[in-house]
Amino acid sequence: MSGAKEKRLGKLNRKRIWPSILAFILFVLACAAAFALFMYLCAVCIMGTKIVANYEEAQQVSAILDSLMDGGHTVTEAAEEMHRFILGNQDIYILDRDGNVVFRTGDSEPNFGLSLEFNVGREFSAVADSKSSFTPDERIGTILALPAEEIFGSVLDPVGQGRTRAQWMDETIIRQNYWLQAPLRNNAYTLYVKCNLQAQRQDIIYVYILGFAAIALVLIPVILLFVNTIRSVMMQRRMTQLIYLDAVTEGRNWLYFQNYARRILTRLWNNKKAFAMVNLHLERYHNYRACYGVKAGEELLAAMNGFLSARVGKNETFARYEGADFGLLLRCEGENEQEYQENCRKRVRSLLAELTGLRPDHKIHFHAGINIIPPYIAEDAKWYHRRKDVDIDELYTYANAARLEANGVDEQRITFFDHDMLGRQKWERWVEDTMESALRNEEFQVYLQPKYSPVSGKLVGAEALVRWVSLSTGLITPSHFIPIFERTGFVTQLDDYMISRVAKMQAEWMIQGKKMIPISVNVSRAHFAQEGLAEHICQLVDAYGPSHELIELEVTESAFFDDKDILVETVKQLRAYGFRVSMDDFGAGYSSLNSLKDIPIDVLKLDGEFFRGDDDGSRRGEIVVREAIQLAKNLDMHVVAEGIEKKEQVDFLAEQGCDMIQGFYYAKPMPIEEFEQKVEEDA
Ligand code: C2E
Ligand code: MG
Ligand code: MG
Repeated sequence: MSGAKEKRLGKLNRKRIWPSILAFILFVLACAAAFALFMYLCAVCIMGTKIVANYEEAQQVSAILDSLMDGGHTVTEAAEEMHRFILGNQDIYILDRDGNVVFRTGDSEPNFGLSLEFNVGREFSAVADSKSSFTPDERIGTILALPAEEIFGSVLDPVGQGRTRAQWMDETIIRQNYWLQAPLRNNAYTLYVKCNLQAQRQDIIYVYILGFAAIALVLIPVILLFVNTIRSVMMQRRMTQLIYLDAVTEGRNWLYFQNYARRILTRLWNNKKAFAMVNLHLERYHNYRACYGVKAGEELLAAMNGFLSARVGKNETFARYEGADFGLLLRCEGENEQEYQENCRKRVRSLLAELTGLRPDHKIHFHAGINIIPPYIAEDAKWYHRRKDVDIDELYTYANAARLEANGVDEQRITFFDHDMLGRQKWERWVEDTMESALRNEEFQVYLQPKYSPVSGKLVGAEALVRWVSLSTGLITPSHFIPIFERTGFVTQLDDYMISRVAKMQAEWMIQGKKMIPISVNVSRAHFAQEGLAEHICQLVDAYGPSHELIELEVTESAFFDDKDILVETVKQLRAYGFRVSMDDFGAGYSSLNSLKDIPIDVLKLDGEFFRGDDDGSRRGEIVVREAIQLAKNLDMHVVAEGIEKKEQVDFLAEQGCDMIQGFYYAKPMPIEEFEQKVEEDA
């Protein structure tokens, strides 16, 4: 996965729902705090007005006392007069400078140990009454909270106790006495006036009505915010689901797999566990789709997805990669590589067995490639080391490389990855990428391997064998690239190139008056599918003009199994054009004597394999060779023995009447110049 993609995914994962929920909770708490503060301020406002009114009354008392004292009365006389004539039942309490009581009325007194804090914008010096229930902790706002229960207890039936609604509202439900210090001009004395703090039911109800109105106002944005939070949480969930949704199987997609598989592998507690990255491939899916339709194909993939999700456990994951390929990350039990492989093979085998039965009415096959991910043991083996730099794509590529090696044979449906596979596949990639430019750059060279007559020991022919002299890799022998060319079909271009080069070479020899040697050229079996092959070869050769008899075309025996009729027809045409045709590698692989009966060839090339493996002294190979030569002779064919390395083999073949020998005993394939020199020496 690219770095940018990984970053974006990381961001998406970090965008969890918790921040939205946390923001919502914080908002609700802030609203609750604002509501409490609002209620408190309302209470302060109402009670503040009452205290200010009390204070104004106290100020009047102090003004009267001052004026009486100004009129010549002692403090006691002034207080008594005032109390008797003016104040009625308002109690006062007067102290001198030393704190001695000079005058007091009423049955209670200021409790100087309990000064009250009325913070209503102005500061008042106030103390509790000796008979009141004020406590030092009480604040003006909280006083109102006390009778709430009483109010709301009867709110449903306000007039039920013989009162009118107005009376009920007017009822005083807070009545607290306290002493306010009133300012005296005569500072020899301190005057305290007993005040009565009263709150009617309506005051408190107004506060609560305001409070509820505020709640209602706040509740609207809170509800909106709540709905919005829920919606955004749901949307995010849905978005994540969509991002991770596979459109075909409706299960998880590859992005999810990459992400989650990496999370599993990098978890700390998984560092000592082995895992297996599996590439599961449904064989011939395109064929299935072509036969039963795209919809049926997708349903099959969805069914596979459903099956796998029931089989893949905790700490494991899977997803469709593309086409009919699934990637699985499975846990591997065991103690060592062998046990991991055995256990994993068992599990995947049983998965495949079940999957094969997924469509009882249709035959489906699976191949699996497995890449074992061993436990992660850090160099210093600390328990807290986790797997680092986990590249899911690379791990999957390896599993895929292993799967590509699995072919149709039953036992080979499951293949384990090893690094040689990767080398092989990289090589194939390289060959496929460079073969065309190599042909253009003439990196393919003709090497010639001489053929000798075992009787005369003279050089009587040669086979043209290709060598790839790569500018970057050096000399490459055919076995490393011919099979790849055959698979890709490029071999036909190479064959054409070789035929042209040989024809050109022979034309030059003719012009230069050199000895003309018949040269055989290999024609791949893939070429025989081409219509008008004989004519095509004819044109290639005629472009340079050598005699057709000097060119022999080698066809491998296996070409016979592809399409006998086309092969026979082409061989006949080639012969009609004057070319010689040989059957290459006779005896290698699955030989069929039938092919000799049907194909009218000129030369039979006995494969080198005939001459190997006779070390037990049985000489069975010799018997077969003898009979094969005899058979060829009877059918009017020439016989060439390939891969001859020993003198005894040459002697034996000479004795049996073999016409030509090609092998390291005489010479290895060599460049043209070297070959020309050899011909001259041989003359
Ligand atoms: P082939 O056509 O059967 O060629 C004979 C192969 O046997 C050559 O291998 C040759 O080097 C090898 N050989 C000859 N004598 C001996 C011997 O005494 N001992 C041993 N061990 N090997 C011997 P080479 O050149 O590697 O070619 C391998 C195969 O590649 C050829 O088998 C042929 O099938 C294919 N090939 C080579 N050049 C071409 C080409 O231009 N076109 C096509 N289509 N195939 C080619
Ligand atoms: Mg050959
Ligand atoms: Mg051969």
